Amino acid sequence: MEYKIGGRILSKKNHACGGNLWEIVRVGADIKVKCCRCGRALFLSVDEVKKMTKTYTLGEEINDKSN
Ligand SMILES: [Zn+2]
Repeated sequence: MEYKIGGRILSKKNHACGGNLWEIVRVGADIKVKCCRCGRALFLSVDEVKKMTKTYTLGEEINDKSN
């Protein structure tokens, strides 16, 4: 599975704020994900992101008409 900027992750466990939808904002040696509910960002390794991911999409279904 390849993670890309703009992709969305539904996590298995909720964030502390109760949200479970994340947006990928940076991809490099680590992946930066932002919680879509509280806006807090985390740096995670690819393995950590894989472990927390329940569903990953590139966001087409979610962002359909927001532009
Ligand atoms: Zn949050």
